[in-house]
Amino acid sequence: MSVVANTLPAMQAWHPWRTLGDQFPHIVVSCDYQLPAGVRGWWRGNTIWLCKTLNQAERRSTLTHELMHVIRGLAPPELRDREERRVDELAARKLIPLPELLHGLQSSTNDDELAEALWTDVHTVRVRRETLTPLEIAWLDEHLDDEMDASACQFAEHRPSTA
Ligand SMILES: [Zn+2]
Repeated sequence: MSVVANTLPAMQAWHPWRTLGDQFPHIVVSCDYQLPAGVRGWWRGNTIWLCKTLNQAERRSTLTHELMHVIRGLAPPELRDREERRVDELAARKLIPLPELLHGLQSSTNDDELAEALWTDVHTVRVRRETLTPLEIAWLDEHLDDEMDASACQFAEHRPSTA
């Protein structure tokens, strides 16, 4: 029995747009505006804005991030930076279940390819890799070693250490 099976709930594919419609029907999403540089999404009240320049995978990823904000509520100003990191991590976990990350690592040679394989964006891929838990790293190690190929080797060197 693998570590993952013992520690993670059964994974269901994450569908941010379906989740929006099913669980947050009062929230309106606008893709009509170009947001300030560096801002991909924004949420206030019953509206989520997604920057009009985003591609489909980026919209999906950014919507997931904003939905995590909606679920958690607005953080007080002094906690905003920490909340951003937490929301980023939660969104990355939703978008990239561990078995899919393993599969992506085995078929991709860099973060751009990995993002494309996982139908998400590079930011999400990096957050997911940087916030792997020791158990997840151990599980990936175990399975990458089983089916190691050249691209997986490259990634193995960049994974965070458990120290
Ligand atoms: Zn945010």
